[in-house]
Amino acid sequence: RPLLEAVDLRKSFGPTPALDGAGLAVHAGEVLAIMGPSGSGKSTLLHCLAGILQPDGGTVRYRDVELSALADGARSELRRTDFGFVFQFGQLVPELSCLENVALPLRLGGVKRKAAESRAREWLERLEVDGVADKRPGETSGGQAQRVAVARALVTGPKVVFADEPTGALDSLNGERVMQFLVTAARETNAAVVLVTHEARVAAYSDREVVVRDGKSREVERVR
Ligand code: ADP
Ligand code: ADP
Repeated sequence: RPLLEAVDLRKSFGPTPALDGAGLAVHAGEVLAIMGPSGSGKSTLLHCLAGILQPDGGTVRYRDVELSALADGARSELRRTDFGFVFQFGQLVPELSCLENVALPLRLGGVKRKAAESRAREWLERLEVDGVADKRPGETSGGQAQRVAVARALVTGPKVVFADEPTGALDSLNGERVMQFLVTAARETNAAVVLVTHEARVAAYSDREVVVRDGKSREVERVR
Protein backbone atom coordinates (compact mmCIF):
# COMPACT_ATOMS: atom_id res chain seq x y z
CA ARG A 1 0.00 0.00 0.00
CA PRO A 2 1.44 3.42 -0.98
CA LEU A 3 2.64 5.81 1.71
CA LEU A 4 1.08 8.79 -0.07
CA GLU A 5 -1.63 8.62 -2.68
CA ALA A 6 -3.59 11.22 -4.64
CA VAL A 7 -6.68 10.27 -6.64
CA ASP A 8 -8.54 12.36 -9.23
CA LEU A 9 -7.34 15.77 -8.03
CA ARG A 10 -9.07 18.85 -9.36
CA LYS A 11 -8.01 22.41 -8.72
CA SER A 12 -8.84 25.62 -10.53
CA PHE A 13 -7.55 29.16 -10.01
CA GLY A 14 -9.55 30.49 -12.95
CA PRO A 15 -11.47 29.23 -15.98
CA THR A 16 -8.78 26.71 -17.03
CA PRO A 17 -8.20 23.95 -14.48
CA ALA A 18 -4.65 23.65 -13.11
CA LEU A 19 -5.40 20.05 -12.10
CA ASP A 20 -7.98 18.06 -14.05
CA GLY A 21 -8.03 14.55 -12.61
CA ALA A 22 -4.37 14.15 -11.65
CA GLY A 23 -3.27 11.34 -9.36
CA LEU A 24 -0.23 9.38 -8.28
CA ALA A 25 1.10 7.08 -5.58
CA VAL A 26 4.43 7.08 -3.74
CA HIS A 27 5.81 4.25 -1.64
CA ALA A 28 8.18 4.51 1.34
CA GLY A 29 11.79 4.86 0.26
CA GLU A 30 10.85 5.62 -3.33
CA VAL A 31 12.01 8.59 -5.42
CA LEU A 32 9.22 9.74 -7.73
CA ALA A 33 9.74 12.43 -10.38
CA ILE A 34 6.88 14.62 -11.57
CA MET A 35 7.75 15.95 -15.01
CA GLY A 36 5.97 18.07 -17.60
CA PRO A 37 6.10 21.44 -19.33
CA SER A 38 5.90 24.76 -17.50
CA GLY A 39 2.35 25.56 -16.43
CA SER A 40 1.15 21.94 -16.71
CA GLY A 41 0.22 21.73 -13.00
CA LYS A 42 3.29 20.10 -11.43
CA SER A 43 3.67 22.58 -8.55
CA THR A 44 -0.07 22.61 -7.91
CA LEU A 45 -0.01 18.81 -7.69
CA LEU A 46 2.97 18.89 -5.32
CA HIS A 47 1.29 21.51 -3.12
CA CYS A 48 -1.89 19.41 -2.91
CA LEU A 49 0.10 16.27 -2.06
CA ALA A 50 1.90 18.15 0.71
CA GLY A 51 -1.30 19.59 2.18
CA ILE A 52 -0.18 23.16 1.39
CA LEU A 53 -3.05 23.65 -1.04
CA GLN A 54 -6.58 22.25 -0.73
CA PRO A 55 -7.84 20.62 -3.96
CA ASP A 56 -11.37 21.42 -5.16
CA GLY A 57 -11.97 17.69 -5.68
CA GLY A 58 -10.32 14.32 -5.26
CA THR A 59 -8.42 12.89 -2.32
CA VAL A 60 -4.92 12.86 -0.88
CA ARG A 61 -4.22 10.08 1.59
CA TYR A 62 -1.06 9.92 3.69
CA ARG A 63 -0.80 6.64 5.65
CA ASP A 64 -4.31 6.31 7.09
CA VAL A 65 -5.10 9.99 7.01
CA GLU A 66 -7.18 11.80 4.42
CA LEU A 67 -5.47 15.23 4.36
CA SER A 68 -8.61 17.25 3.60
CA ALA A 69 -10.31 15.71 6.64
CA LEU A 70 -7.72 17.30 8.93
CA ALA A 71 -8.15 20.73 10.48
CA ASP A 72 -5.62 23.33 9.30
CA GLY A 73 -3.65 23.08 12.53
CA ALA A 74 -3.40 19.30 12.39
CA ARG A 75 -2.33 19.47 8.75
CA SER A 76 0.46 21.97 9.58
CA GLU A 77 1.56 19.75 12.44
CA LEU A 78 1.69 16.73 10.13
CA ARG A 79 3.79 18.74 7.63
CA ARG A 80 6.18 19.68 10.41
CA THR A 81 6.59 16.16 11.80
CA ASP A 82 6.43 13.99 8.68
CA PHE A 83 7.31 16.11 5.63
CA GLY A 84 10.43 17.95 4.48
CA PHE A 85 10.63 20.60 1.76
CA VAL A 86 13.26 21.76 -0.70
CA PHE A 87 12.36 24.54 -3.13
CA GLN A 88 14.16 26.14 -6.04
CA PHE A 89 15.57 28.94 -3.90
CA GLY A 90 14.83 31.38 -1.15
CA GLN A 91 13.78 28.96 1.55
CA LEU A 92 16.63 29.66 3.98
CA VAL A 93 16.24 32.46 6.53
CA PRO A 94 18.78 35.11 5.44
CA GLU A 95 19.38 36.49 8.95
CA LEU A 96 20.34 33.10 10.42
CA SER A 97 23.59 31.19 9.96
CA CYS A 98 23.47 28.01 7.90
CA LEU A 99 23.79 26.00 11.12
CA GLU A 100 20.88 27.89 12.72
CA ASN A 101 18.83 27.38 9.55
CA VAL A 102 19.27 23.60 9.71
CA ALA A 103 18.62 23.59 13.47
CA LEU A 104 15.44 25.66 13.07
CA PRO A 105 12.95 22.85 12.28
CA LEU A 106 14.23 20.97 15.34
CA ARG A 107 13.97 24.09 17.52
CA LEU A 108 10.37 24.58 16.30
CA GLY A 109 9.72 20.98 17.33
CA GLY A 110 10.91 21.76 20.86
CA VAL A 111 14.47 20.37 20.71
CA LYS A 112 16.91 22.29 22.95
CA ARG A 113 19.45 24.51 21.23
CA LYS A 114 22.54 22.43 21.97
CA ALA A 115 21.03 19.15 20.82
CA ALA A 116 19.46 20.80 17.77
CA GLU A 117 22.72 22.43 16.70
CA SER A 118 24.68 19.24 17.19
CA ARG A 119 22.28 17.31 14.95
CA ALA A 120 22.29 20.17 12.46
CA ARG A 121 26.09 20.05 12.34
CA GLU A 122 26.01 16.30 11.63
CA TRP A 123 23.71 16.94 8.69
CA LEU A 124 25.92 19.74 7.36
CA GLU A 125 28.86 17.31 7.53
CA ARG A 126 26.86 14.63 5.73
CA LEU A 127 26.10 17.10 2.92
CA GLU A 128 29.76 18.23 2.97
CA VAL A 129 28.89 21.85 3.74
CA ASP A 130 29.99 22.04 7.39
CA GLY A 131 32.50 24.65 6.21
CA VAL A 132 29.68 27.19 5.84
CA ALA A 133 28.01 26.42 9.21
CA ASP A 134 28.66 29.89 10.61
CA LYS A 135 28.01 31.81 7.39
CA ARG A 136 24.69 33.28 6.37
CA PRO A 137 23.06 31.71 3.29
CA GLY A 138 23.84 34.86 1.26
CA GLU A 139 27.56 34.35 1.88
CA THR A 140 27.57 30.87 0.33
CA SER A 141 27.42 29.68 -3.27
CA GLY A 142 24.09 28.59 -4.74
CA GLY A 143 25.15 24.95 -4.63
CA GLN A 144 26.18 25.19 -0.98
CA ALA A 145 22.93 26.94 -0.04
CA GLN A 146 20.90 24.19 -1.74
CA ARG A 147 22.81 21.50 0.15
CA VAL A 148 22.10 23.41 3.39
CA ALA A 149 18.43 23.44 2.32
CA VAL A 150 18.55 19.65 1.81
CA ALA A 151 20.09 19.25 5.28
CA ARG A 152 17.30 21.38 6.73
CA ALA A 153 14.65 19.31 4.93
CA LEU A 154 16.06 16.03 6.26
CA VAL A 155 17.18 16.94 9.78
CA THR A 156 13.80 16.10 11.35
CA GLY A 157 13.72 12.62 9.77
CA PRO A 158 10.74 13.22 7.43
CA LYS A 159 8.87 10.34 5.82
CA VAL A 160 8.32 12.31 2.60
CA VAL A 161 10.58 14.99 1.12
CA PHE A 162 8.94 17.32 -1.39
CA ALA A 163 11.43 18.91 -3.78
CA ASP A 164 10.12 21.49 -6.28
CA GLU A 165 12.77 22.18 -8.95
CA PRO A 166 15.53 21.81 -6.32
CA THR A 167 18.23 22.21 -8.97
CA GLY A 168 16.45 24.90 -10.99
CA ALA A 169 18.78 27.70 -9.93
CA LEU A 170 22.02 25.69 -10.20
CA ASP A 171 24.46 24.85 -12.98
CA SER A 172 24.47 21.22 -14.05
CA LEU A 173 27.45 20.14 -11.92
CA ASN A 174 25.98 21.61 -8.72
CA GLY A 175 22.55 20.32 -9.68
CA GLU A 176 23.92 16.78 -9.98
CA ARG A 177 25.63 17.07 -6.60
CA VAL A 178 22.47 18.28 -4.89
CA MET A 179 20.51 15.40 -6.42
CA GLN A 180 23.14 12.85 -5.39
CA PHE A 181 23.09 14.11 -1.80
CA LEU A 182 19.30 14.34 -1.68
CA VAL A 183 18.72 10.84 -3.06
CA THR A 184 21.48 9.23 -0.98
CA ALA A 185 20.25 10.82 2.25
CA ALA A 186 16.65 9.91 1.48
CA ARG A 187 17.58 6.28 0.79
CA GLU A 188 19.59 6.07 4.01
CA THR A 189 16.61 7.28 6.02
CA ASN A 190 13.97 5.40 3.94
CA ALA A 191 12.23 8.68 3.13
CA ALA A 192 10.16 8.95 -0.03
CA VAL A 193 11.04 11.83 -2.36
CA VAL A 194 8.51 13.60 -4.56
CA LEU A 195 10.56 15.57 -7.04
CA VAL A 196 9.17 18.16 -9.46
CA THR A 197 11.49 18.87 -12.36
CA HIS A 198 11.36 19.62 -16.07
CA GLU A 199 14.92 18.35 -16.59
CA ALA A 200 15.33 14.73 -17.72
CA ARG A 201 18.85 14.72 -16.26
CA VAL A 202 17.40 15.45 -12.81
CA ALA A 203 14.49 13.02 -13.22
CA ALA A 204 17.05 10.30 -14.00
CA TYR A 205 17.72 10.13 -10.24
CA SER A 206 14.18 8.88 -9.63
CA ASP A 207 12.82 5.33 -9.53
CA ARG A 208 9.64 6.24 -11.40
CA GLU A 209 8.30 9.13 -13.45
CA VAL A 210 4.89 10.67 -13.75
CA VAL A 211 4.23 13.19 -16.51
CA VAL A 212 1.73 16.00 -16.01
CA ARG A 213 0.14 17.65 -19.01
CA ASP A 214 -2.81 20.06 -18.90
CA GLY A 215 -3.50 19.06 -15.31
CA LYS A 216 -3.66 15.34 -16.07
CA SER A 217 -1.01 12.85 -14.98
CA ARG A 218 0.18 9.55 -16.31
CA GLU A 219 3.01 7.23 -15.39
CA VAL A 220 5.73 6.82 -18.01
CA GLU A 221 7.56 3.63 -18.81
CA ARG A 222 11.27 4.12 -18.62
CA VAL A 223 13.91 1.97 -20.21
CA ARG A 224 16.73 1.54 -17.73
P1 ADP B 1 3.98 23.97 -13.23
O1 ADP B 1 4.48 23.70 -11.86
O2 ADP B 1 3.84 22.73 -14.07
O3 ADP B 1 4.75 25.03 -13.94
P2 ADP B 1 1.76 25.17 -11.86
O4 ADP B 1 1.17 24.10 -11.04
O5 ADP B 1 2.65 26.17 -11.21
O6 ADP B 1 2.47 24.50 -13.12
O7 ADP B 1 0.59 25.95 -12.58
C1 ADP B 1 -0.46 25.33 -13.31
C2 ADP B 1 -1.43 26.39 -13.79
O8 ADP B 1 -2.09 26.97 -12.66
C3 ADP B 1 -0.74 27.55 -14.48
O9 ADP B 1 -1.62 28.02 -15.49
C4 ADP B 1 -0.56 28.57 -13.38
O10 ADP B 1 -0.49 29.90 -13.88
C5 ADP B 1 -1.81 28.35 -12.54
N1 ADP B 1 -1.58 28.66 -11.12
C6 ADP B 1 -0.79 27.96 -10.27
N2 ADP B 1 -0.84 28.48 -9.04
C7 ADP B 1 -1.70 29.55 -9.12
C8 ADP B 1 -2.17 30.48 -8.18
N3 ADP B 1 -1.80 30.47 -6.90
N4 ADP B 1 -3.04 31.42 -8.62
C9 ADP B 1 -3.45 31.45 -9.89
N5 ADP B 1 -3.05 30.58 -10.84
C10 ADP B 1 -2.17 29.64 -10.46
P1 ADP C 1 7.19 26.57 -11.04
O1 ADP C 1 7.79 27.04 -12.33
O2 ADP C 1 8.15 25.89 -10.12
O3 ADP C 1 5.91 25.84 -11.24
P2 ADP C 1 5.89 29.05 -10.73
O4 ADP C 1 6.78 30.21 -10.99
O5 ADP C 1 4.94 28.58 -11.77
O6 ADP C 1 6.81 27.87 -10.23
O7 ADP C 1 5.04 29.31 -9.42
C1 ADP C 1 5.64 29.75 -8.23
C2 ADP C 1 4.55 29.98 -7.21
O8 ADP C 1 3.60 30.92 -7.70
C3 ADP C 1 3.77 28.73 -6.89
O9 ADP C 1 3.48 28.73 -5.51
C4 ADP C 1 2.49 28.84 -7.70
O10 ADP C 1 1.42 28.21 -7.06
C5 ADP C 1 2.30 30.33 -7.78
N1 ADP C 1 1.71 30.73 -9.07
C6 ADP C 1 1.97 30.18 -10.28
N2 ADP C 1 1.26 30.78 -11.24
C7 ADP C 1 0.56 31.75 -10.62
C8 ADP C 1 -0.39 32.73 -11.07
N3 ADP C 1 -0.75 32.83 -12.35
N4 ADP C 1 -0.90 33.56 -10.15
C9 ADP C 1 -0.56 33.46 -8.86
N5 ADP C 1 0.31 32.57 -8.37
C10 ADP C 1 0.85 31.71 -9.23
